[in-house]
Amino acid sequence: MTENLLFIKDINFKKGSKVFIRCDFNTPMDEFQNITDDRRIRSALATIKYCLDEGCSVILTSHLGRPKNGYEEKFSLEPIAKRLSRLLNKDVIFVKDIIGEMAKKAVSELKTGEILLLENLRFEKGETKNDENFAKELANFADYYINDAFGVCHRAHASVHAITKFFDDEHKCAGFLLKKEIEFASNLIKHPARPFVAVVGGSKVSGKLQALKNLLPKVDKLIIGGGMAFTFIKALGYEIGNSLLEEDLIDEALKVLEKGKELGVKIYLPVDAIVAPYLSNDTVMKYVPIQEMPKDWMGLDIGPASVTLFKEALDSAQTIWWNGPMGVFEIDKFSRGSFRMSHFIAESPATTVIGGGDTADVVARAGDKDEVTFISTGGGASLELIEGKELPGVKVLIREEKN
Ligand code: AMP
Repeated sequence: MTENLLFIKDINFKKGSKVFIRCDFNTPMDEFQNITDDRRIRSALATIKYCLDEGCSVILTSHLGRPKNGYEEKFSLEPIAKRLSRLLNKDVIFVKDIIGEMAKKAVSELKTGEILLLENLRFEKGETKNDENFAKELANFADYYINDAFGVCHRAHASVHAITKFFDDEHKCAGFLLKKEIEFASNLIKHPARPFVAVVGGSKVSGKLQALKNLLPKVDKLIIGGGMAFTFIKALGYEIGNSLLEEDLIDEALKVLEKGKELGVKIYLPVDAIVAPYLSNDTVMKYVPIQEMPKDWMGLDIGPASVTLFKEALDSAQTIWWNGPMGVFEIDKFSRGSFRMSHFIAESPATTVIGGGDTADVVARAGDKDEVTFISTGGGASLELIEGKELPGVKVLIREEKN
């Protein structure tokens, strides 16, 4: 997939040009707009510095969160500009505008070597609608277009999709981060060192069913934890109390288990759980074997026996792909299973790939983020790559074959 990807290193940048870089600065912030994890900003630095070294100026854009109706302070990119400036040790000009007069003026005054950050793209309705007029206004700002926002490539939005129509193959490309993300996911699927173990969790089978189906013929072992495991456990005929259940997917869950057997893939499900009558930090809780789930309680984390079992299954792994927490890790009481899995995966000598989103958050909170091989910056996009889907934002950066 990456052979024909238009890549930043193949572009002949003319000195003094302006480069539009679509970044993913969708960073988590606390209630005071303090950035709590700047991994996504750091991940964009290589592409930004490269363009500056090529003698260009850069116009950076991103979305942040999901603003509904235009400007909202809590979704402003202003804190990003400050952090970026500190990380680059360089001024970053910030305008509270996207395609209006202020933005146009700032772009026209931008000098070689300078960095400009525009306001949150999603303050403009055209962004999520993939609006061509909006995309054209953005495209008019620059001579070159670079996409380094892997986290949004599974969405056909104006700044990753429609905008590419306004640049030819010599003037648009993927940045370093985007290429690295795609390469990691496709190498993982194509040439994993074996045994290859996939660990999936999280709340919904429906969100990961396609990935499970695509992974089954490729993996040696599959570990299923988190809320989604209960649909499988129910499918095997056990009582699961009030645990998460997707009743309409019980048959699909059985099919996955049968297919695994047919293919010789070893599938591991939790053998015990931490259960509570309701979801809260101050509820009572207890450990139970999976055969003894109390009727009105719900399973909110994997238990210690499952932790040991999963550790043994991981011991021989040479490649591990992890997507989805083992329990409700956001609540301390139910975070142990996810954190211990994070430690095992971090300590493993295997190539370890974390599928972004919540799982990246687990690994960060567990203090393991420097110990894993690769943490994807995009949860949804990374999952779609594993599902074998073509990402709209990547498809438009594939070199056109000339006859
Ligand atoms: P997903 O977006 O499907 O990857 O799900 C992530 C969410 O799953 C996290 O917010 C977890 O709190 C939640 N989760 C994990 N295990 C459970 C569980 N046993 N019951 C309810 N929610 C869970």
